[in-house]
Amino acid sequence: MGVALASAALVAPLKRHPPTIATYCSHSSLQIFHGARQEGYRTLGIAAGKPPRYYEAFPLARPDAFLSIPKLDQLPKYVSRLNREHAILVPHGSFVEYLGPERFAALPVPVFGNRAVLAWESDREKEREWLEGAGVQMPRRYETVDDIDGPAIVKYYGAKGGKGFILAKNKEALRDFRPTGPFVIQQYVLGTRYYIHFFYSPLSRDGYRVGPGSLELLGMDRRDEANIDELYKLGAQEELLAAGIRPTFVVTGNVPVVLRESLLPQVFDIGARIVERSIELFGGMVGPFCVEGIVTEELKFYVFEISTRIVAGTNVFPSGSSYADLVAPNLSMGRRMAIEISRAREQDRLREVLS
Ligand code: AMP
Repeated sequence: MGVALASAALVAPLKRHPPTIATYCSHSSLQIFHGARQEGYRTLGIAAGKPPRYYEAFPLARPDAFLSIPKLDQLPKYVSRLNREHAILVPHGSFVEYLGPERFAALPVPVFGNRAVLAWESDREKEREWLEGAGVQMPRRYETVDDIDGPAIVKYYGAKGGKGFILAKNKEALRDFRPTGPFVIQQYVLGTRYYIHFFYSPLSRDGYRVGPGSLELLGMDRRDEANIDELYKLGAQEELLAAGIRPTFVVTGNVPVVLRESLLPQVFDIGARIVERSIELFGGMVGPFCVEGIVTEELKFYVFEISTRIVAGTNVFPSGSSYADLVAPNLSMGRRMAIEISRAREQDRLREVLS
């Protein structure tokens, strides 16, 4: 028996009744519902207002039922309905962001994965403490503009989609920088971005062993980011700034990628260290997480961010990826979560995968 994340009382009804897989209708919900249905689960879509019409176009991913509420932040009022339906909530970026990480963490409804991780992910200071404590290479942090010794990126706290980011070629470019709120200055790592989709199973006893379970690599993507990805076509930064055009990193979509095979040992090592440290810090991370990093020309992998739940980049792979195909056929991240819930029910270990 591994770490118990959920109380016995929370999971008891789910042993007797088949659970309903529920999530907020956005982000990666199509894939979550599709994967749950493949494993025979009933699905419930939580919608703010009327359910989005696009589900009508995707019969294999349409939830069996909807819970329409006026606004997502009112979800705590609907807890008894969710529990009556034996719901297991699946967190994703928009669900946690729009409800708020604290409100999400406080819901008295079973959640897939360890909800304690949300506090570590949503706070950039705690995230750095975790990742650096794991021995993972991150972009350097500069305390002052004077410390900068190369290209740098200034990130305001809570900047959505990198909209408040400032890019600087060197410290001289930041001489006139007058902050308008709390911020961090980081080394701007020059290289190629990769978003690595891992799944950690505390139940598995085979495969790539980490801690009490094992680590699976199910896919990789790169995010399309407007307007930075195409900005180079317009020429030099100074001229752009003079023209009033500031770079932004608003995610508009995702593309599948694979990594040089010789880099796989490095990314598995990073994934394993992050999981091992999470076990020491807060009882472990369970299920999907995404390591977001940049590979330099020296083939060094710098991690600038971690997402501790399913990421939208997995939507590229509803029926397998270059990596998931080598684990099992037809395996999406959504389906993988449903499989973990089934295994946990069979082995009477739901408390280790739910919180
Ligand atoms: P974040 O909000 O930290 O996920 O960053 C948004 C985007 O900014 C990333 O997807 C990258 O394109 C870029 N970015 C963030 N930090 C760095 C960094 N230290 N070096 C280079 N690019 C970065």
